Amino acid sequence: MKVSFYGHVRQYHNIKAEIDENIRQVLESGEYVMGPMLKRFEGELAAYSGMKHAIGVNSGTDALWLVFLALGIGEGDECITTTNTFFATAEAIWFVNATAVFVDSDPRTNCIDPGKIEAAITPRTKAIVPVHLYGQCADMKAIRRIADKHSLRVVEDNAQAVGARGDGFRIGELSDAVCTSFIIQKNLGTFGDGGAVITNNDEINRVVRRLRNHGSEKRSQHSMGYNSRLDDLHAGILSAKLKHIDEWNGLRGKWAARYSAGLAPAANITLPYEAPAGRHVFHLYAIETKQARHRDELLKFLNDADVDAKCHYPIAIHQQAGYPWGKSARVAGGIPNSERNAACCVSLPIYPELTAEEVDDVVAKVLEWDAAQ
Ligand SMILES: *Cc1c(COP(=O)(O)O)cnc(C)c1O
Repeated sequence: MKVSFYGHVRQYHNIKAEIDENIRQVLESGEYVMGPMLKRFEGELAAYSGMKHAIGVNSGTDALWLVFLALGIGEGDECITTTNTFFATAEAIWFVNATAVFVDSDPRTNCIDPGKIEAAITPRTKAIVPVHLYGQCADMKAIRRIADKHSLRVVEDNAQAVGARGDGFRIGELSDAVCTSFIIQKNLGTFGDGGAVITNNDEINRVVRRLRNHGSEKRSQHSMGYNSRLDDLHAGILSAKLKHIDEWNGLRGKWAARYSAGLAPAANITLPYEAPAGRHVFHLYAIETKQARHRDELLKFLNDADVDAKCHYPIAIHQQAGYPWGKSARVAGGIPNSERNAACCVSLPIYPELTAEEVDDVVAKVLEWDAAQ
């Protein structure tokens, strides 16, 4: 059985009428950029997030970049984050010429380890940038306490965890701004690129809205900005999909539980940790091989058996060739957990539209590999 890594076309077919209707509305309206559908989606996203403002932008990367600009972070400033994340987290820090400071991740969640943050703080530190990796929230309560103590900003990279819940907190509640991505493979993804900034801060809202549209608040009046708008066709697609996100995240959770039950006997892998409180939305179901030398073997075994497994992320940012490209970066302290995560991670296919047969087939293949070790 072939099991693919994504279910985008299945998802389209499941809600085709709703998506087609919104696309039709946009096409008929004659307004395609900064039009009523964008406004509608921004309102729906803010309401869904329980936050005051949602601003549609071009991508998750731009969302981070524009928030750093809005916060006045720039040359000589430092932002503390992790290196076992998608490259864009650090890239956006470098776009504003700030220094990326990498601390270790928590060995269980693989999100930033709050216990490692304080030792990395210097007089130049401006912000902490936690990533809710794989769909599970970083420990925002601990991060907030550290940020308050040292007067730091907190920017959440929430590209992977739309709809997740923390242990007694909502995403956005304990930070200055939340940055999310709507590229197709994310839990809430459009058929292309998109992103959003979500915030309760009126000033960040005002500045990001200005920056995304050529520095313009009033027609024909400009200050320095950029073109980073979410267009109305994508807003329409996302508006249709947002109505299903909780149901879809629920299905991801269901498949994750089926994987974890099926894979429990495997001796050579570690299963994803799911904190007992909060809600993990399983953007990725990332297992780890217990031995680094097994990772590429397992990946090849699965790929050869028609299971489209992948790795997120096999090369941590500080391990990329040419790092740091003349940019300013620092690895603070040892980061053995981030390096282990990069060396051992394997992502199994997970999306709402999987079937039980497909999950069971992947489980059987992983168990077959495991038994042969
Ligand atoms: C996808 C992703 C981004 C970037 O989002 P784009 O929309 O592709 O620019 C940033 N951070 C993380 C953790 C991501 O997974």
